[in-house]
Amino acid sequence: MLNIRTVAVIGSGTMGAGIAEVAASHGHQVLIYDIASDAISRAIDGIRQRLASRVTRGKLSADAGSQILGRLVPVTDIEALSAADLVIEAASERLEVKKALFAQLAEICPPQTVLTSNTSSISVTAIAADVHHPERVAGLHFFNPAPVMKLVEVVSGLATSPEVADALCELALNWGKQPVRCQSTPGFIVNRVARPFYSEAWRALEEQVAPPEVIDAALREGGGFPMGPLELTDMIGQDVNFAVTCSVFNAFWQERRFLPSLVQQELVLAGRLGKKSGKGVYDWQGDKPDVQWVESVEDSYSPMRVERRRDGVTEIDDVYLIETQGETAQALALRLNGPVVVVDRIERDVAVIAAAASNPHTATQKVIRYLQQQGHRVVQIADYPGLLVWRTLAMIANESLDALQKGVASEKDIDTAMRLGVNYPSGPIAWGERLGWQRLLTLLENLQRYYGEERYRPCSLLRQRALLESSYES
Ligand code: NAD
Repeated sequence: MLNIRTVAVIGSGTMGAGIAEVAASHGHQVLIYDIASDAISRAIDGIRQRLASRVTRGKLSADAGSQILGRLVPVTDIEALSAADLVIEAASERLEVKKALFAQLAEICPPQTVLTSNTSSISVTAIAADVHHPERVAGLHFFNPAPVMKLVEVVSGLATSPEVADALCELALNWGKQPVRCQSTPGFIVNRVARPFYSEAWRALEEQVAPPEVIDAALREGGGFPMGPLELTDMIGQDVNFAVTCSVFNAFWQERRFLPSLVQQELVLAGRLGKKSGKGVYDWQGDKPDVQWVESVEDSYSPMRVERRRDGVTEIDDVYLIETQGETAQALALRLNGPVVVVDRIERDVAVIAAAASNPHTATQKVIRYLQQQGHRVVQIADYPGLLVWRTLAMIANESLDALQKGVASEKDIDTAMRLGVNYPSGPIAWGERLGWQRLLTLLENLQRYYGEERYRPCSLLRQRALLESSYES
């Protein structure tokens, strides 16, 4: 364990100020340095206000609040950072800025000072490349707002020593955070594994499958996510979310599954950045549009016979109701030679359905009537393979396994990172286990066949897990 007493924070913007507050709240003296001296006073003012509000709400004693403030030391000369045991850099997200800072730090600070960056996308290996003793350089990736969010990604570059990563994990725990370890690869854990959550929503919007409020409601109600993907991008800021997607896409040599969305780019170009600009996917000054639920279907459509089969197919008179496995309702209708309605994952009371174009009107009405009788609110979207929730879950689980297979992080840390970094209701690998790897594999294979795109290719670990699963079953 390193003996870390004095912490230095470089860059006192949104993240630097939050990190300084966390460190000072845990007893460290914190040197705050920024090239813009007014940024330092703004950061300290902000911390003062947040502490005062905690005092007012009875969450902190006035005495403890002033002790925390007393530990913050504004610094205008970078040389003063030689006194730090740990430096956390949270300056601009530009490699040349970070490299120049780290080269300077390596000159100023003794070799035992641990040098870390809060970078969300830049290679830690690249930042450390010209530093003396690069084994003491690591990523320490906090999430915004740093005083609130539990997760910290402890990122090892090629040269980072395991002892330094261990010590940073221990420090994060002492600061009340949950550390996860990962290797320096594009997007680390969270910003990589979360990409499909957004990109599948943009794709559905691009293909005009459903309006935004339906896409969001499906993921909230059927996926259990705290927020739908499109409303979440409005909260994050379309510019920020788009920049992360572009960065991950380019860092992966333009891997197609990370392809940025043209619809999102249009929003950014128009200055429709989301909540902060008043308009994004939604108009934040007006009311949000309501989901158009299918109206109550008349009694005359009540089914006479309902038979639930073991393979997840329900026969409702002469109509098949099938939980999607990545084929369109029309493809299934042709194969089964009868009317078909496909349904998305139902977690709560919302049922998202799509009907084959060849269905007689009465057939689809019968299924809607059946679902309504089961207590579901029904929304009908275009006949879209994998629908909204199932395909998103499959893509997230697939990305998680890809990261696991490539040694980015452990299974446990990937799951923890997604629960705490972006509030997923479950870790995606635990999810995959529950949903069934074979089922997810089938879904992705169907999507890949349908689109002919590499985007939906199942990763090889998914194939291995699916095989293992079927060997356990047999
Ligand atoms: P910000 O723009 O709010 O603050 C950056 C600060 O760094 C500014 O005050 C600026 O004056 C200062 N700065 C710039 N160059 C400097 C230099 N050479 N020396 C000293 N100070 C310098 O940015 P932010 O959102 O706080 O992001 C900071 C870092 O944290 C980035 O690397 C970013 O990718 C990362 N990050 C941001 C978030 C987020 O949600 N904002 C989340 C996680 C990580």
